[in-house]
Amino acid sequence: MITLTGTAASNGIAAGRLLFQEKRLHTPSPRAGASAEEELARFRSACLDADRELESLCFAALERDCRDEADIFKVQRILILDPDFITPVEQAILEEGRDAAYAVHQAAERLSDMLRRTSNDYMRARAADIKDAAERLLALLTGSRQAASLPDGPSIIAARELTPSETVGLMHLGILGFATQLGSSLSHAAILARTLGIPAVTEIRTDLFQYNGRRVLLDGYQGLLYIDPDPQTEEASFRRERERTAHIHALASLPCSTRDGTPITLLANISTPGDTEGALSFGAAGIGLMRTEGLFWERRPNEEAQFAACRAVIDRMAGKPVTFRALDIGADKCASWLRLPSERNPALGMRGVRLLLRHRELLIPQLRAILRASAFGPVRLMAPMVSSVKEMEEFRRAVHQVMNELSRAGIPFDPSLPVGSMIETPASALIAGELAKVSDFFSVGTNDLTQYTLAVDRQSETLPELIDTSHPAVLKLIGMAVQRAQQEGIPLCICGEAAADLRLCEAFLNLGVRSLSVAPQAIPALKEKIRTLTLQEKPSPVPQGI
Ligand code: PEP
Ligand code: MG
Repeated sequence: MITLTGTAASNGIAAGRLLFQEKRLHTPSPRAGASAEEELARFRSACLDADRELESLCFAALERDCRDEADIFKVQRILILDPDFITPVEQAILEEGRDAAYAVHQAAERLSDMLRRTSNDYMRARAADIKDAAERLLALLTGSRQAASLPDGPSIIAARELTPSETVGLMHLGILGFATQLGSSLSHAAILARTLGIPAVTEIRTDLFQYNGRRVLLDGYQGLLYIDPDPQTEEASFRRERERTAHIHALASLPCSTRDGTPITLLANISTPGDTEGALSFGAAGIGLMRTEGLFWERRPNEEAQFAACRAVIDRMAGKPVTFRALDIGADKCASWLRLPSERNPALGMRGVRLLLRHRELLIPQLRAILRASAFGPVRLMAPMVSSVKEMEEFRRAVHQVMNELSRAGIPFDPSLPVGSMIETPASALIAGELAKVSDFFSVGTNDLTQYTLAVDRQSETLPELIDTSHPAVLKLIGMAVQRAQQEGIPLCICGEAAADLRLCEAFLNLGVRSLSVAPQAIPALKEKIRTLTLQEKPSPVPQGI
């Protein structure tokens, strides 16, 4: 038995035959004979065709509720329009007299090599996207598509690196797992493996081709690939896997309360109706945050499409409460179709409720969709990025206006639908007392609250160590919001990433928080932690609500 070590990228255990996917980027000839203008025109037309292909792949993925898959094609659409890619291609055609296909090949090789050498994990993972997008362009320019060898039975796919399209193509073939020499836990193969719930190990820095066809055991928990595993190792790995799964299932049905018997509500954060499956299987008591942006990335959905998505979430949750957050778009969450004026500091500009109140054509159809859906199950609605009482009052006025319209038209909705406020700006925490008077509940967004309190970009690559939700300033603001919610008698939930941080859990509960909303997969570990805690005496926790 040989043991190879890599990076654990997706949990799970699988055993089977290793199938190495060999795929080389086309290497076209330097010069095909056409004029530079003709080659340039061919290149531009191939870019338009590739963009159209990617757009329809994206739509098809969204129709199937596969957000991760859609994101892959979205990234590639951006890459083929990126000047870092286009400019060298055009220069090679015009200034060096290169054939369009050759120029694309060279530019893609150079850009992906450059990305692979960066220290940023996310950028390194994009090297595979550039190769994938270039393959599409080359296929259009040369009229040939290279088919990868397909598994003829359940296999563990190995590759030097898997491009997103290859991964998506393989996903539907019942494969057991992925093992790659390059890539990272942020590569698409890893992301898709997590979505599919199959194991993946990346960065196994060995030539895997030499093991093609051998029996292997893939351990996605520890980042290991065993070649010709011995029966004891295989048996022990699967036994641990069965124990883990049984433990998670057992946890899902156990009540969530502290050791001293205080019940805690664990909810799920989701982005698409498809995510409800994970929420239910991990035992969520409801949806604490539906990021409705998930419906808006690629196109602007009309009221009917939004209503159908909201209704699907409500139906699938079968009576469990669902909190929809009104569209929080702008800054780091910009939809490709939304043309916002460029701002020097977009995170401090037009986003969240600020944008909605100034763009009623976005707000009103969404409110109508959510309110109409509220006739089919327990629903709450919240406004993102609130920083003043006036904003919340205006938001509520819009809700009432829509309620009046629906009543006049005889369309059913829940007239007592709770309307809450996200607490994710320091201002909202500081005026939580006043805000509580115009809010039916609070939901603390620790991601943005941390960014704005500590004046550090939540996606900062230069100062990642400063993004610290446990900073006393952030905890103080959360404490203020909790205290005001207690005084005003409204429920409060924490829904930012910090809600899943096992190190902060006890502090949050001791503040009086009784409701946490996290990614579905984070629920079991959080529940396990909560069940070990004994809380300090607290006179008045926040009302349970959800
Ligand atoms: C937050 O800011 O913590 C939050 C939950 O919202 P988002 O991450 O979607 O901005
Ligand atoms: Mg936020």
